[in-house]
Amino acid sequence: MEVTVRRRSSPAVSRLVADLRFAVAVVEIVLFLLCSEAVNASIAEKPHQWHDPGKGSEKIISHSCIHDQILEQRRRPGHKVYSVTPQVYQESSVLKPLHRKGRALLGLSTSPYHQKDAKQPIRIYLNYDAVGHSPDRDCRNVGDIVKLGEPPANSLPGGPSCNAHGEPPVASDCLYNCTQDDIAGDDKQHRLRKALGQTVDWFSRALAVEPVKGNLRLSGYSACGQDGGVQLPREYVEDGVANSDLVLLVTTRPTTGNTLAWAVACERDQWGRAIAGHVNVAPRHLTAEAETLLSATLIHEVMHVLGFDPHAFAHFRDERKRRRSQVTEQAMDEKLGRMVTRVVLPRVVMHSRFHYGAFSENFTGLELEDGGGRGTSGSHWEKRLLMNEIMTGSVDTRSVVSKMTLALLEDSGWYEANYTMADRLDWGRNQGTDFVTSPCNQWKGAYHCNTTQFSGCTYNREAEGYCPIVSYSGDLPQWARYFPQANKGGQSPLADYCTYFVAYSDGSCTDTNSARPPDRMLGEVRGSNSRCMASSLVRTGFVRGSMSQGNGCYQHRCVNNSLEVAVDGIWKVCPEAGGPVQFPGFNGELICPAHHELCSTGLLPLSGGHCPSSCNFNGDCIDGRCHCFLGFHGHDCSKRSCPGNCNGRGKCLGSGVCHCDDRYTGVDCSTEVCDEQCSLHGGVCDNGKCEFRCSDYAGYTCQNSSKLLSTLSVCQDVLEIGKSGQHCAPSEPSVLQQLEEVVVMPNYHRLFPGGARKLINNLFNKQYDCDAAAKKLACWISIQKCDKDGDNRLRVCHSACQSYNRACGASLDCADLTLFSGENKHGSQCTGSDETAHTKGSAMQGRSAKALEALKQMFVLYR
Ligand SMILES: [Zn+2]
Repeated sequence: MEVTVRRRSSPAVSRLVADLRFAVAVVEIVLFLLCSEAVNASIAEKPHQWHDPGKGSEKIISHSCIHDQILEQRRRPGHKVYSVTPQVYQESSVLKPLHRKGRALLGLSTSPYHQKDAKQPIRIYLNYDAVGHSPDRDCRNVGDIVKLGEPPANSLPGGPSCNAHGEPPVASDCLYNCTQDDIAGDDKQHRLRKALGQTVDWFSRALAVEPVKGNLRLSGYSACGQDGGVQLPREYVEDGVANSDLVLLVTTRPTTGNTLAWAVACERDQWGRAIAGHVNVAPRHLTAEAETLLSATLIHEVMHVLGFDPHAFAHFRDERKRRRSQVTEQAMDEKLGRMVTRVVLPRVVMHSRFHYGAFSENFTGLELEDGGGRGTSGSHWEKRLLMNEIMTGSVDTRSVVSKMTLALLEDSGWYEANYTMADRLDWGRNQGTDFVTSPCNQWKGAYHCNTTQFSGCTYNREAEGYCPIVSYSGDLPQWARYFPQANKGGQSPLADYCTYFVAYSDGSCTDTNSARPPDRMLGEVRGSNSRCMASSLVRTGFVRGSMSQGNGCYQHRCVNNSLEVAVDGIWKVCPEAGGPVQFPGFNGELICPAHHELCSTGLLPLSGGHCPSSCNFNGDCIDGRCHCFLGFHGHDCSKRSCPGNCNGRGKCLGSGVCHCDDRYTGVDCSTEVCDEQCSLHGGVCDNGKCEFRCSDYAGYTCQNSSKLLSTLSVCQDVLEIGKSGQHCAPSEPSVLQQLEEVVVMPNYHRLFPGGARKLINNLFNKQYDCDAAAKKLACWISIQKCDKDGDNRLRVCHSACQSYNRACGASLDCADLTLFSGENKHGSQCTGSDETAHTKGSAMQGRSAKALEALKQMFVLYR
């Protein structure tokens, strides 16, 4: 209903579209109810049977993200993945005539002075209305039994129970017994607001977006989010939300295991950017002790809403603002011995090269997480390669935001990233291409340890550490067997069971308050400039206590392009590549690290790695040559230019930036903008073409049409004609039957109303079977053919619309490209070509113009 209020264009069809939208909304609700009852079979992967032996401690020191698991649930039939609501991005100062309104809605400015792409800090609006307001999901009293996850509708009272310390719930989920910790009292709510406020503030400094003009518009058809979701406040749907680019609906429902929070996007704009999302933070973790961990967790979770999400990847845009053909690539990696998914986005690859020093073309993309069982697959960076990066599958207080994560969001085409907000990530830094392309047992130095090494320096040399090797109860996957025993490996499945030195709790070289004092006999000193180094030093006249303890904390400094180390206040210059140095008064030697390990000069001694001015981060650096991104040129990508001279569809501004004409967008004005109607059906704009992707609908797939026929009743005859191809329909037969009932039939009745209208039809229009035409059209509008590659839904043929209009004397706007194909499309490119009716129709002309006119009137009246 809210749609009709907002819609302003061509009367008949807009109402039809509006009704269809409504019908779709209805079907979603019905399907949801249906499926929640029917679906018990969980798709979730079984958790790994081997466990970290250290697990079970009460204090939670890391957050385990369950984003992938949530996405898995959202793919279940009947669950809506998200809705699409178009936004206004540029305002026109002049009030335009009605037919221009669509353009205005799309935000196409005619003002030549308006600077396009003027991105502003992202405005995230937090709504707390739902906190504590769901009787069956929020803990309000000790002993309350609440639903957790997405349980079947009829699960009360006999469903499985779950406890706070258990594994995260899987798809079928459980009933949860509330304790005092799960109640979001005033203090917890206060902490929540503070933490989320800081998160929003952080993002406003880290990301800029093209600001939404006027109020953010939201559809609010179905509940937004997960675990029952949240209903958007009515006024948001009716009036929109002022001064915001994204709305986050906050809840405080319990979670299990060490999952502090989760979040998911639920509405997107016409370009695919998230405009609404649901963030849930468990009250159990809203404690003073967890404050730092919570901050990191919230940044992580909001990143998922903003775009670090395989669903969002499908909508990513390139510089031309076209849908990216490739965001990830999946390939069998011979070296690693398994399938690997890599992000191949240009800025991600570029920043990864600079981080790892991987300037060889053998490095093609940055790996996504595949391990760790349920919860983490596809939504996170591979922990083996990024370790304490914030977008790996587990977050702790040492997590940092790297440039790679900001680059991923920038490569979405929706945001501009402020890279000064990135932290320094040490893991893998300057380790070269081999680090990213080889299995971890081939890693060098502190990145790899084995059974013979009792202790060593951690990767960043900030601490002394040990080599944790776990004996699991089951065998590890083939590719993760780095030891002769198939059940032995590192402690983290997320990090591919790699073994590396982990800091002793008292092993820090930089912390002067460490429980263990430095060993004066070995010449050790702790402090901010101390680092862990291999050493056999011992004061003359003494013997080293343990020969296995071959390392210690020693002072270092970087001066005059060289690394120096000190023992007892005597500084010695290290060899450039690292190596032994000796000190007076000491037996043995100190092994210097390589210069680049501790001194970041910005210039690496890597052969062929370097590009002039690091290509100014406007291009990729491969084997010493810059490959500039579109819009940049010069040997160091420092110059801006209007690509393709704006293709004659815009003005090239002095800064080398194109200012595109009304109907075009993108860095070179080569991309056509879609009509405003595009999004009404959940269509996504791609270069002037509104695409309706079958896969955007949860539970819908492109299926062989012949397979569908037996399930259909009303549309069986209609679809029989096109049975050779594929149709986009719910994959569950029972859901498909429901589709006919709640979408096809109402539309059929709208297209062919009974009563007086029927009478007129029978009297004046006997030659044309309006009934059949209306039925056909209703079926074709609801169940569309798929295109050749089985991705997009094909719109209803223009000729089919015309046939219907002729048969029923109606005035549907067949030129509406949201519903109907262009006039010249035939058969294989649209749904429901109807040649017979087409030829028959011409006889109609002039015969009963009056009746036709009456019918048109009726049609309008009945609508
Ligand atoms: Zn996550």
